[in-house]
Amino acid sequence: MKWSQFFIQTLREAPSDAEVVSHQLMVRAGFIRKVAAGIYNYLPLGLRVLRKIEDIIREEMNAAGATEVLLPIIMPRELWDQSGRWKVYGKELLRLKDRHERDYCVGPTHEEAITSLVAGELRSYRQLPLNLYQIQTKFRDEIRPRFGLMRGREFIMKDAYSFDVSEEKAMETYRQMEKAYRRIFDRCGLQYRSVEALSGAIGGNVSHEFQVLASSGEDEILSCDHCDYAANADKAQVRSEAQGQKTSELLVCEKVTTPQKTSVEEVAQFLNLKPYHLVKTLIYVLEQDQSAVAVLIRGDHEVSEGKLQSLLNGATMQLADEKTVQKVTGGPCGYSGPIGLKGISLYADESVRSMKNFVVGANEAEVHWVNANLDRDFKVERFADLRRVQKGDSCPRCEKGRYQSHRGIEVGQVFYLGTKYSTPMGVRFLDENGKEKTAFMGCYGIGVGRTAAAAIEQNHDEHGIIWPLPMAPFSVEILSLHKGEDEVLREAQKIYEKLTEKGIDVLIDDRNESPGVKFKDADLIGIPWVIIIGAKSLARQEVEIKERRTGQKQTLSVKMVVDKIVEVLNA
Ligand code: ATP
Ligand code: MG
Repeated sequence: MKWSQFFIQTLREAPSDAEVVSHQLMVRAGFIRKVAAGIYNYLPLGLRVLRKIEDIIREEMNAAGATEVLLPIIMPRELWDQSGRWKVYGKELLRLKDRHERDYCVGPTHEEAITSLVAGELRSYRQLPLNLYQIQTKFRDEIRPRFGLMRGREFIMKDAYSFDVSEEKAMETYRQMEKAYRRIFDRCGLQYRSVEALSGAIGGNVSHEFQVLASSGEDEILSCDHCDYAANADKAQVRSEAQGQKTSELLVCEKVTTPQKTSVEEVAQFLNLKPYHLVKTLIYVLEQDQSAVAVLIRGDHEVSEGKLQSLLNGATMQLADEKTVQKVTGGPCGYSGPIGLKGISLYADESVRSMKNFVVGANEAEVHWVNANLDRDFKVERFADLRRVQKGDSCPRCEKGRYQSHRGIEVGQVFYLGTKYSTPMGVRFLDENGKEKTAFMGCYGIGVGRTAAAAIEQNHDEHGIIWPLPMAPFSVEILSLHKGEDEVLREAQKIYEKLTEKGIDVLIDDRNESPGVKFKDADLIGIPWVIIIGAKSLARQEVEIKERRTGQKQTLSVKMVVDKIVEVLNA
């Protein structure tokens, strides 16, 4: 490709809303341009990167026995009613009406569409296993789109869906997909970890995320420093440790005033207790119907909203605002408590189960109950593991190590779905004995744009991007340091043609720009290998090659350069 004909617009400054380096560099290097919040144009360089990643994904998915399809972006409401997700998906689902006032949505994921397709075609166990994938634009109306392609609203995803005759076979497929994902991210040249994860709005109960390790990552990953257990912090299991509360005698529950004490620490100190003698009551509002639920958690713990979402069957929720808290509890924010709370589901973290004589809010300003006790003073509808574990907590698997914390960018996730979609949407087949059975499913996503962004987070320096070769928009860039139509440009073009004939992706900077501009732009766009051709060295029949990652240069004879490039690209 010739730079002079290609559409590359580099910028000196990053836009002010670009907080992370991948966003800054993708805009500055002319890979993307913003259209609206979380919606981007992919310029030619950016598109080439996405296509390279897609090619790797396609090869590995095909090799793993999956087949490519393309489903619609817009789907009718009826499909989403069948799965029950029209109601629970919340505001991320962009809903729209056609001219006949019929409801549609823009696909944020395609379980419904694929399940309905397969339900209509499946007759016999002989058609299984089946694994279908697509690479397509998704839309999620994210509450905070940011970080460029990392958290967009419109983005490209590879999504695959598998159908098997039994749970056992479906888990085999799941493990094959996990392996295929490892090959994909290995081939992309990324440092990543596969960690246990929650299933969120997708559903199911077994899931792994592929997390690219980067300090700018939005996710916290916890890994044991002794065994190989690693999980998203939202999901990481808790090792139950009974704390404090030795006395088993139930004391008299009474109200105390706690003037101007709002935080757990302040209240605990005022009452001469520890934070773990308190139980916090948090009010959440479900997006689907604006109903509220209360969650009880020990004073020194935090709620994992992911675990809560799993408990609520994937429904999305948010912490209630002041007005709602007042309406639901009759008291102000910060003083909510379970005693006397009516008409609202009450869930509690497991660690609350063994507590005695604890402190809770009294749903009145500056008042708390002390010596509150389960069952006697209020009833909990359900106990569950709702706690977000922290770095330093002990590992529940080996019971020897402690959790270490890392930041990660989730580039892919695999889910075992069981029959969550196949039962309501009727994906049935006749087994070997002519008996009707329901298919077992899995689904598997990779964010294509997010993978590109994650690669930049891991591979850059102060001058620009350093693309891993497999996803670089071009493998080689030729810097022709010519002045007008001279010998330098002619020689550069010859090398360009020879490399192109060999099937190598080459970009030639044939612009009439100064060497300084060309060197700066080359560093910025980050092509792994650069061939530099200038008048002085050419007079000696020599050129230079430079590796972007190390900055190391080598001088070579003009005759040798093509072979040398072939050699380094295959190394
Ligand atoms: P997140 O937790 O980051 O919101 P998710 O778990 O909801 O993501 P999945 O449903 O697992 O996402 O989607 C599969 C993949 O699609 C993700 O692993 C990620 O790479 C990509 N993806 C999801 N949301 C976005 C987004 N808003 N922008 C870009 N890529 C995304
Ligand atoms: Mg995910």
